[in-house]
Amino acid sequence: KELIKKLEETIENFPDFPVPGIQFKDISPIFLDSKLYKHVIADLAAFSKGKVDAVCGIESRGYLFGIAIAVALEVPFILIRKAGKLPPPVASEKYDLEYGSAIIETREGQIKPGQRILIHDDLLATGGTTEAAAKLVEKQGANVSQFSFLIGLKDLKGHEKLRKFGAEIYNILEY
Ligand code: 5GP
Repeated sequence: KELIKKLEETIENFPDFPVPGIQFKDISPIFLDSKLYKHVIADLAAFSKGKVDAVCGIESRGYLFGIAIAVALEVPFILIRKAGKLPPPVASEKYDLEYGSAIIETREGQIKPGQRILIHDDLLATGGTTEAAAKLVEKQGANVSQFSFLIGLKDLKGHEKLRKFGAEIYNILEY
C-alpha cells in the first residue's frame, strides 16, 4: 500500500555500517515528515487497538514510535532500558549478544500482573533483544499479546525466535 511505498522511499540503507556486513536502515528521515510519522503511528495503533493494556518500548528507537502508539491507544507506556539507567528497584533480564551479553531493565511495578502487553521496537533483526523484553514482561506476571516493528529483517529469523510467546507479530516493512 501507499504507506509501505512512502517508507521504502524514506528509510535510508547504509551498507557496511556500523560494521562490515551490516545493512543499516536509518529511520531518522521519517521524523522530517510529520504527516508520514502520523501515518506510521495510525497504522501501528490500528494493529493494537483494543488488544493491549500497555505498551513496552525498547531503548532507544522503540521509544520514538512506542510512546505515540500508547498515547493513540490511551494506555500506559513503559520504558525497557539498558542496565543501570533506571532507579531501583528494577526487574532485569540478561541476554546473549553476538559478542558477550547485555541486560535490560524496567522499573518494578510498572507492568501489572495480567496485563496484555504490546512490545514495540523499530526493527526486528535476530530477535535477541525483543525475546529478552518478552521474558522480562512475563516475569512480571503479564502476557505478551503482540509485537510490533516498523521493519522486520526476514533473513535473521527473529520471527521464529518470537513464535514461542504465542503473540501476534506485525511489521510494516519487511526486507
Ligand atoms: P535484534 O536483537 O533483533 O538482533 O536487534 C534489534 C535491535 O537492534 C533493535 O533494537 C534495533 O533498534 C537495532 N538495530 C539493528 N539493526 C538495525 C538497523 O539496521 N537499523 C536500525 N534502525 N536499528 C537496528
